[in-house]
Amino acid sequence: MTDTEHGAPRTAAAFREVYGAEPQGVWAAPGRVNLIGEYTDFNDGFVMPLALPHTTLAAAAPRPDGVLRLHSAGAGGGITELHPDALRGEAPTPTAGWAAYPAGVVWALREAGLPVGGADLHYESAVPTGAGLSSSAALEVATALALNDLYGLGLAPQELARIAQRAENAFVGVPCGIMDQTAAACCTAGHALFLDTRDLNYRHVPFDLAGEGLRLLVVDTRVRHELGDGAYAQRRAGCERGARALGVRALRDVPYAHLPVALDRLDDPAVRSLVRHVVTENHRVEQVVARLDAGDIRGIGPLLTAGHASLRDDFAVSCAELDLAVGAADAAGALGARITGGGFGGSAVVLVEERAAEPVADAVTAAFAAAGFAAPRIFPAVPSAGARRLADQSTGTAARA
Ligand code: ADP
Ligand code: MG
Repeated sequence: MTDTEHGAPRTAAAFREVYGAEPQGVWAAPGRVNLIGEYTDFNDGFVMPLALPHTTLAAAAPRPDGVLRLHSAGAGGGITELHPDALRGEAPTPTAGWAAYPAGVVWALREAGLPVGGADLHYESAVPTGAGLSSSAALEVATALALNDLYGLGLAPQELARIAQRAENAFVGVPCGIMDQTAAACCTAGHALFLDTRDLNYRHVPFDLAGEGLRLLVVDTRVRHELGDGAYAQRRAGCERGARALGVRALRDVPYAHLPVALDRLDDPAVRSLVRHVVTENHRVEQVVARLDAGDIRGIGPLLTAGHASLRDDFAVSCAELDLAVGAADAAGALGARITGGGFGGSAVVLVEERAAEPVADAVTAAFAAAGFAAPRIFPAVPSAGARRLADQSTGTAARA
């Protein structure tokens, strides 16, 4: 059994404690790391996330009265109770704090005209929050999948991802792309997800790290990013300006081979840098896919490191801790390393030979200590399954008829 399945009986038991009733099931959705393809998703480009073994579990039961009750073991505080009126209409009453994420999912499902009644939900999570590992999408997608099953909505994983993104964009107010929710909903074990964010077509690309004697380490710098400060919006607007100036629908439509010509046509150096990152990053994703399809996982190392340089120099979303993690890993013999997620802190990924995993992790930890930074949290990213309902035997909930 995986850690997720081990956690299921505990989550079901906690539900009973919180609500004094039996949950109807337990659902899980994972956090993710993005292997390559950063800040491409709002440019209609390519991304390549993989699901982590770390999941958010939701134990849930339906309620006939339309009321939504939410409780999270990690959030502190009691039960948040929301009445149906708060979750309807174009301008719903704002929901405070973490509960806005699952409440937004209910709102988005009802906005889509789906017959979603009330529910009691209890969450337990092993996904670090605010670390760039997408705990918010795990929370949303676990909620969406639970409601999908409780109310027999019949939505496919991609549709659940859309609902979750809408919840985060329009209800929570975070202008994120579709990558995180799609990763949480659609990934499969042993693979990375090559996703075209324009049409949401995707392909599972084999990524058998263990079989190749490799590891992908996650270095959580423990520096927490704040994307609400306008940095994200500013870059997004710059990319849109670039696309307009070049006469394309989105920067995805600038072919890599045309990049020099395209850059010549842009006067604003800030926009030029953003465009260069997006176009080269899309190209890197395609190169990574080609290498993985050819069975050459080691060959992606330099592409990861080139991606980091582009995020640092052209997109300007790195920070001292991330640059140190990547630099120290590189100096200690890693095959490649880069920021994963939005940057400004959060996490980096490092590709290493299995035998070098410990020395590289130790080198990064030592470099952080020497720089006076808080110790990073380092763990392997094992490509894992996307959102799923956990078997009743493993959850301790009553088997369904
Ligand atoms: P990330 O998605 O990278 O972890 P975000 O800032 O997008 O970072 O989302 C983190 C927020 O999501 C938390 O501050 C909290 O509000 C909410 N959240 C995520 N997981 C949980 C959970 N298990 N319980 C309660 N809130 C959670
Ligand atoms: Mg998030």
